[in-house]
Formats: sequence, C-alpha cells, structure tokens
Amino acid sequence: MDINEQGRAELIAASPTERQLHVGRPNLGPRSELDKLIDGIYERRWVTNDGPLVQELEASIAERLDVKHCIAMCNGTIALEIAIRALGLEGEVIVPSFTFVATAHALSWQGIRPVFADIDPRTHNLDPRSVEAAITPQTTGIIGVHLWGRPAPVQELTEIADRHGLALMFDAAHAFDCSAGVQLIGGFGRAETFSFHGTKFFNTFEGGAVTTNDDEVATTARLMRNFGFSGYDNVIHPGTNGKMSEISAAMGLVNLRHLEHVVNENRRAHSLYSALLSDVPGVSVLQPPGGERQNYQYVVAEVDQDVADRDVVLSALHSENVLARRYFWPGTHRMEPYASWTPRSGERLPSTELVASRVLVLPTGPSMSDDDVERVARIIRRSVMGP
Ligand SMILES: *Cc1c(COP(=O)(O)O)cnc(C)c1O
Repeated sequence: MDINEQGRAELIAASPTERQLHVGRPNLGPRSELDKLIDGIYERRWVTNDGPLVQELEASIAERLDVKHCIAMCNGTIALEIAIRALGLEGEVIVPSFTFVATAHALSWQGIRPVFADIDPRTHNLDPRSVEAAITPQTTGIIGVHLWGRPAPVQELTEIADRHGLALMFDAAHAFDCSAGVQLIGGFGRAETFSFHGTKFFNTFEGGAVTTNDDEVATTARLMRNFGFSGYDNVIHPGTNGKMSEISAAMGLVNLRHLEHVVNENRRAHSLYSALLSDVPGVSVLQPPGGERQNYQYVVAEVDQDVADRDVVLSALHSENVLARRYFWPGTHRMEPYASWTPRSGERLPSTELVASRVLVLPTGPSMSDDDVERVARIIRRSVMGP
C-alpha cells in the first residue's frame, strides 16, 4: 500500500464521532462579561463613531503595549492600508512573501508595488541581506512582519531603513503581547499594525489597530479612519471608513482580561506537541526564540521533505477530522496579481519556497485538551512512521 492509499484507507476508517479539531478557533472570554458591556451599549445607544468602549480599549492596549498611541480599526487590513498611507509610502515597498496575502494586498490596493524579500529559514522572518538587495531608486519603505509572533529583525531593519532613508513599519498581526528582547511589540518603526480577527491570539470578532509613538502618524491615522473629519462638517484630509464598532470593542475589553489564561493554555499545548513529536523523524516544532515574550498562538510544525511528505501528513490529519493548515503556501509571490507581475520571483526566494513547502500549523488554544494534542501527535507519528 503506498502512502496515498494509506491516507485513503484512513479516510474511510475515520470515526465520524471524533470531535473536529481545527486551527484558528476563536478565543472568547466569558459571555456574561460581554453581556454586561452590551447592556451599556443599549443604554447609551452609542454603537460606533469613537464610542466610550473603543476609547477604553485603545487606552488599555496603549498601556499594555507601552506605546503612546493606539488607533483602533475595523480590521487589520485597513489598519495596514491606513498606516502605509499615513507614512506616505509610494513606488516600491519591500515586504516578505512568506506572510498572509494582506501584507502585499494593502500596498497593491493603493497602487504601490510590493517587492518581495526572502526570509531566514531558521526564523521564518525577513532576511536583512535580502531586504537590502531588493532596494531600488523607487523604494520608499520596508514592512517587516513579526511572523508567528516571533520578532522580525527589528534592529537590522532599522539600520537599513536609516541608512537608505526609508520608512519602516511592521505588520504585527500575529504579535499581540509579544516582545523583541525586553521591549513589547507595538512601538517599533514609525508604526505597527495589529489584526484582532477572530483567528488571532486577541480578537474583537473583526478588528485591528495602528500603534505608534509618532504624534503626527497618530493624528493622520485618526483622520483617515473617519473620512478625514475634524469635528462636524469639517473634512480636512482624504480618508476612508476604518472605525471599530462598540460591540467589537466590548469583545476586546473582555478578551483582554483573560489573555493570561490563553497564553498559558497555548504554552501547554506547544510544550506537549514539542515533546510528543521530538522523536518523529523529519518533523520539528518551531521553538520560540529565547528571552522573548510570546503568545504561542501558532504551533508550527516543519516537515522535512527529504524524510517525509508534508501534504501526506496533512491529508492524514484531515481524514481524521483534524483541520491542520498549510500556512502562507505557496507564498504571496505565487498568488495573483504578483505571480503575473513577476513570474520568476521564486528564483530569488529560495528560503520562502522551502519553508512554504514544509510548514504545517497545528490546532492549539484553550479548547485543545492534552488528549486532543496527543491524538493529533499520534496521527502525525503514524503517517510518518507507519502503524
Ligand atoms: C490576519 C492578518 C492580516 C489581516 O488582518 P485582518 O484583520 O484579517 O484584515 C494581515 N497580516 C497578517 C500577517 C495577518 O496574519
């Protein structure tokens, strides 16, 4: 029986009663606490437009991340688009290809060309040498991504940006409550952006934020978020609708109170996966860098294609109702419109292509019991090593 037939046999044998486990299950704080805040929204009848809950959430996040300004947004993509525009980026901007497609889309959506730089295969984050090699006379900025909540090489990227007179910002969508060294992510570059989407570590159903220590960027981002309005009837800037609603802010305020629980549960699952998979040949679990604060929201397994087949492992998991995911596969440079713009960019991105072919993201979070983690690890072990 070849390994594909084995996968099919498992599909047939899979018990339909086994609970479905999947990546990106929302972390939701207690319903009773949310209900109380919703009562307040009904009493005030203030549902959006910079309401009191949005203001409270912004103040809480700014304090928590030790950053001067937090501007809440309706989602992480609009936060990116607004930060990009507030920084005045144009022409070409250097980004990783190994990230969620929104990082590049937020640029191309406003007529800016994303230029993809390669990653360090050990960290999955931007390789500073590849960034520097991608700079052209059209380059105006660099967007680093703190992938999986692991800090991008902040210091090297800052030096490159300074040396070439480029603006630097970060897509911190994965990195809420994470640090680079002792400093929490949120205040690096001229701005950082977060996603509070339901699948993220900290969620407001849909939501996001721009954080910055730069007063000018903060003022501009606030104006852009609300059509450029400065008081009633007075529009002083181009803008869009990036506002967060009160119900999203309410979910955020509740979830903020319970983040320690989520981190602890994530860490427990991460350690257990690491231990259970440590002797499976060709499979390794990406470990957080030492000394950093981490949210452990992503359990990233890498399958060495010389030893085992990532996609066979994936179908074995799916056939047993475990919805693990390939992430950022096949790489943004292989998605449209980027694949058509620069069909051969893969040649310049060998580590991106390698890592994209190896990564498997496993289910985690408070809803995963130790038994669930053991079940997932058992399926991986069996699909690599046989019964
Ligand atoms: C989720 C995500 C985004 C987009 O955030 P939304 O809130 O879904 O719009 C952007 N960048 C990265 C790296 C993400 O993971």
